[in-house]
Amino acid sequence: MPRRSSLGGAADHSAERVKVVVRVRPPHGSESGGAISVAPDNKGIVLYRDQSNVPQSGFEFDKVLREDASQADVFHAAVQPIVDDVMNGYNGTIMAYGQTGAGKTYTLSSVAPDNIGMMPRAAAAIFSEIEHDSSNVYTVVMSYIQIYMELLQDLLQPQNNDLQIREGEDGVFVAGVHEVEVEKVEDCLHLLQVGDRNRVFAFTALNAHSSRSHAIVMLTITKRPAAAPQNRALGQKVKVGKLFLVDLAGSERLKKSRSTGLRASEAVSINLSLTTLGMCINARADPNATHVPFRDSKLTRLLQESLGGNAKTSLVIAVANALQHVDETLQSLQFGSRAMRVHTQAVVNEHVDFKVMNAELVAALDKREDKAHL
Ligand code: ADP
Ligand code: MG
Repeated sequence: MPRRSSLGGAADHSAERVKVVVRVRPPHGSESGGAISVAPDNKGIVLYRDQSNVPQSGFEFDKVLREDASQADVFHAAVQPIVDDVMNGYNGTIMAYGQTGAGKTYTLSSVAPDNIGMMPRAAAAIFSEIEHDSSNVYTVVMSYIQIYMELLQDLLQPQNNDLQIREGEDGVFVAGVHEVEVEKVEDCLHLLQVGDRNRVFAFTALNAHSSRSHAIVMLTITKRPAAAPQNRALGQKVKVGKLFLVDLAGSERLKKSRSTGLRASEAVSINLSLTTLGMCINARADPNATHVPFRDSKLTRLLQESLGGNAKTSLVIAVANALQHVDETLQSLQFGSRAMRVHTQAVVNEHVDFKVMNAELVAALDKREDKAHL
């Protein structure tokens, strides 16, 4: 039986899969290409170890986006369908996975005007839908956090660097996270930039690299019918959709080398959330697994619904077409391949609009009192 939302989910709760889209970036300066070929159907991808044309391994995904794919192509393949669902009260997650330098941040949060990434595009799609829908009233709230060494830091209020994850009636949430109401794309872009600056500052202070942390933008969209309160039916429903955009830490194996100066305990702690994510995906993809270790790390606890509960999830695997990176690329494609077997059960998050109900009850009581005075 699919688990129902504690808010009382609507009928549509059919099981569906995590969608996996691979994005290939072109080789940079000193890198040599020829490591990847994409099948004509744009679903198959073959990996080569050298120029010999002997394939190393092949995979199939929901979509493979070639080197010349635009940000708009990524948006249509991996983001647009999720945003549409979030506007209707579903939870949605877009996650970018891959080694450092493979293109996760470029894909998710580029703010270059000619190359706008998924986060600003998602915000633009949300506000465009709001503008065109006169029969509902929306509020959109944004938060921005990062997880580093199992500490959860508020990137909009960086002094809050040990936030806790709690579980309430509406599912898992970050207690005390700073939430800002946003009204237009520019508000989101501004908060994204504020958060990114705080992230750089935090890592400079730690003398560490931000590719080791997971950055998570959260947008919560509340939708209520637009009718004036006196025309609303008692017990009218409000829908709440949550969108997570997750820029995961670099998936490359951390070397405990002298150059990074890492102690073994640090390396374990830095990797814990990502390692646990892999273990949860393996467990969720295995029909015989009896335990999924969601609670073993901050990231998987926060993303628990995205990986097997109430959410629609797209995973973007970022890879570089470079012979130098074949081992890491292979590992990323294997990760994506396992994620293709993870099912979720999304339901519409809907509950009675208590705000309206309270206003109506107060009005009704007032009327009764007026009559009593007559
Ligand atoms: P990551 O976040 O995975 O570490 P970045 O997004 O920072 O990687 O990308 C590394 C570099 O590659 C950046 O200079 C970025 O502009 C460039 N890059 C990434 N993806 C693409 C792409 N699809 N096309 C062109 N350049 C890209
Ligand atoms: Mg990055």
